[in-house]
Amino acid sequence: MMRLPPFRYLAPVSVADAVKLMGDHGPQAMLVAGGTDLYPNMKRRQFEPSVLVGLRGIRELAGVRPTESDGLAVGAGTTLTAVSRHPEVRARYAALATAAGAVSTPQLRNMGTLGGNVCVDTRCNYYNQSYQWRKAVNFCMKKDGEICLVAPGSPRCWAVSSSDTAPVLWSLGASVRLAGPAGERTIPVSALYQDDGIQYLTKQPDEIVTEIALPPAAGLRSVYLKLRRRGSFDFPVLGVAVALTMDGETVSRARIVLGAVASLPREAVEAGRLLVGERLGRELIERVADAAARPAKPLDNTDLTHPYRKRMTRVLVARALQRLAGLPEEAE
Ligand SMILES: Cc1cc2nc3c(=O)[nH]c(=O)nc-3n(C[C@H](O)[C@H](O)[C@H](O)COP(=O)(O)OP(=O)(O)OC[C@H]3O[C@@H](n4cnc5c(N)ncnc54)[C@H](O)[C@@H]3O)c2cc1C
Ligand code: SF4
Repeated sequence: MMRLPPFRYLAPVSVADAVKLMGDHGPQAMLVAGGTDLYPNMKRRQFEPSVLVGLRGIRELAGVRPTESDGLAVGAGTTLTAVSRHPEVRARYAALATAAGAVSTPQLRNMGTLGGNVCVDTRCNYYNQSYQWRKAVNFCMKKDGEICLVAPGSPRCWAVSSSDTAPVLWSLGASVRLAGPAGERTIPVSALYQDDGIQYLTKQPDEIVTEIALPPAAGLRSVYLKLRRRGSFDFPVLGVAVALTMDGETVSRARIVLGAVASLPREAVEAGRLLVGERLGRELIERVADAAARPAKPLDNTDLTHPYRKRMTRVLVARALQRLAGLPEEAE
């Protein structure tokens, strides 16, 4: 059995206190929300904080509220179960409800939070292993080692962004509010990530995600499709998030964002452009699906083979668009 290493758990009741505690303890401290990703990582000695600043007791972080611009603001501490069941989220941002409800298992969704899900660690077959396993292969540069075992000549880590909600939030044009020692700031979700398996977040380690803001949903149609080995429990090996703003039957804005194909969610920009100003039809959907598969360059470091995952990008994008167009989905 893998055991947690010793650590101190601090339980602030306000964001301001949590920011202060993170500042007091510096790089030795980490934030923990539901702990569903962090504790297993600590058991495997991938994270070795001596202090954890717990966010669960901060009431202001939980809940969903309307915004002045007719969008929704979801507190970072809101559980995935609550997000997936919230009537307004389900009615207006269907893809987010689907993605939150597709994370892992009911028990983990009851504990896991939206904030934890957008910050969740990147994954790799050579990294998500016990300490002994990693030691036997002499570790890798993401933790304790020197080289990348997937691409030994590479100067960087290629661990895979594996959050279900991150590609959806990006496609919806959501933004995140951050609180840190320098005060508060808001950035688009698309600016929260960078293409590096180790430093995959642009925010500072002591900055707390406090809220995720969703823009108004007028004319919005959205969908999230997830590929994984089993129908439950597993992380995505491919996620396809599509958000279209419709002006009648014409697409006025489109974003297609792929999950689990790189160290960050990857927007298929050209594919989105092809949709704007057009009506959804089979021929257009075929062209868009071809274009969307181009930026997906999965490596051989997660479940299922990478050529299969690349091929499935095209299939899932076509299915997602068929669903949004109300067309019968082709099996392929
Ligand atoms: C068996 C198993 C299956 C899983 N399957 C999936 C899956 O299918 N899809 C998926 O997306 N995830 C999956 N997960 C990972 C995890 O359960 C979820 O991502 C969950 O949403 C993480 O939320 P949490 O609140 O538990 O985060 P925690 O574990 O508490 O934290 C995760 C990371 O986020 C940071 N963090 C947490 N909250 C904040 C905040 N407010 N501000 C700044 N940083 C913060 C922590 O410091 C840590 O680095 C799985 C985990 C397990 C163990
Ligand atoms: S991509 Fe390379 S460096 Fe990154 S976790 Fe995998 S083996 Fe390690």
